Amino acid sequence: MTRTQVAIIGAGPSGLLLSQLLHLHGIDSVVLERQSRSYVEARIRAGVLEQGTVELLHKAGVGERLQRERLVHDGFGLGFGGRNFRIDLKRLAGQSVSVYGQTEVTKDLMDARLASGAKLIFEAADVTVSGIDGGRPTVRYTHGGASHELHCDYVAGCDGYHGICRQSVPAAAIQAFERVYPFGWLGVLADVPPATHEIVYSNHARGFAMCSMRSLTRSRYYIQCASDERLDAWSDARFWDELRARLPAEVAEAVTTGPSIEKSIAPLRSFVVEPMQFGSLFLVGDAAHIVPPTGAKGLNLAAADVRVLYQALVERYRTGSGELLERYSETCLRRIWKVVRFSWWFTSLMHKFDDDPFAHRIQLADLDYLTGSAAAQTSIAENYVGLPFERPL
Ligand SMILES: Cc1cc2nc3c(=O)[nH]c(=O)nc-3n(C[C@H](O)[C@H](O)[C@H](O)COP(=O)(O)OP(=O)(O)OC[C@H]3O[C@@H](n4cnc5c(N)ncnc54)[C@H](O)[C@@H]3O)c2cc1C
Repeated sequence: MTRTQVAIIGAGPSGLLLSQLLHLHGIDSVVLERQSRSYVEARIRAGVLEQGTVELLHKAGVGERLQRERLVHDGFGLGFGGRNFRIDLKRLAGQSVSVYGQTEVTKDLMDARLASGAKLIFEAADVTVSGIDGGRPTVRYTHGGASHELHCDYVAGCDGYHGICRQSVPAAAIQAFERVYPFGWLGVLADVPPATHEIVYSNHARGFAMCSMRSLTRSRYYIQCASDERLDAWSDARFWDELRARLPAEVAEAVTTGPSIEKSIAPLRSFVVEPMQFGSLFLVGDAAHIVPPTGAKGLNLAAADVRVLYQALVERYRTGSGELLERYSETCLRRIWKVVRFSWWFTSLMHKFDDDPFAHRIQLADLDYLTGSAAAQTSIAENYVGLPFERPL
């Protein structure tokens, strides 16, 4: 039997960041991760960080490489009707975003945690959580063939959409809100220079396309595909042809093609559970909410939850007051629903939902309106760079 203050389930960005911030404030935690370290480090996912996320990573002491290697973007492009219209984030919202892959964020956090002797247990199987409603939480798991028991004050459920923490809450105590979109994203990662300096989101009659990047030599491209699309139906050549067909001509001409180093299909959904706390269990990041990747909010929203939870735990251990902890769910959900709304709106604006030409004309009118309205551009810019926080860091 082992004891810790906070048991953290999942070593994704939420779990690692929470554990690191707690450690810097003298709070002990144990992180249990189902996968191996190499698997977690290699997972290709998000790439755009809001300024608030960058500041939190600095606060966690893992901002040095990020500061050096990130690409700072002062704007992004909206492709439609053959043109690429720039949203000037810096001018409209006074902030920029940083391009720095989730794989790098994970590596930096993992290195920092391991360097300070963190209790990080990979390949922890059969994790179960009990006693969360009685104030004596226990986490059981098997590791290396042996059974283990971990006693703690609090459990942080950082185990993603498919994790066990959300499922440990009685069904009657939790409500889920969900929208599944009738399409997915086919993504390709390639070691070729990006077509554009800034990210481009393109609305096209054939479907959505996106030009993104991880560095000046590594590009990430996406095209909208059917939800049941088969990956083996997409050769690299077919992908590049379809991508270019959906981009404004000036962007399409700038695409450098090359062999893919990763190709995957991600489903798109909006999902939120309320509340995010049950007794001493706190749900964090993808365990509590999912947004479609249009607008790059998933990782940033996870970091925003961590920010609220670590401050609440620090206050709890420093002063004995559980006030911030009790407000955790309410504080997070206010931000989450605004971000869910933005991601849903941006997804609805840019994707092809059906063959209805009326719907496409309405999207084009919406985009055309945006190009002529400073108010509409400011609204999209404010949401894209990240909404303000209730409490300072
Ligand atoms: C394919 C894909 C592409 C994405 N692209 C983008 C993007 O472009 N932009 C963006 O902003 N966001 C994107 N996201 C979302 C973003 O990656 C997530 O929001 C982010 O990873 C959330 O971090 P997390 O730590 O909360 O959850 P996760 O990263 O899912 O981490 C959860 C961890 O818990 C572990 N775990 C699960 N179950 C158990 C268990 N039973 N026991 C122990 N450990 C467990 C998992 O192995 C995992 O390591 C993408 C997500 C996916 C899946």
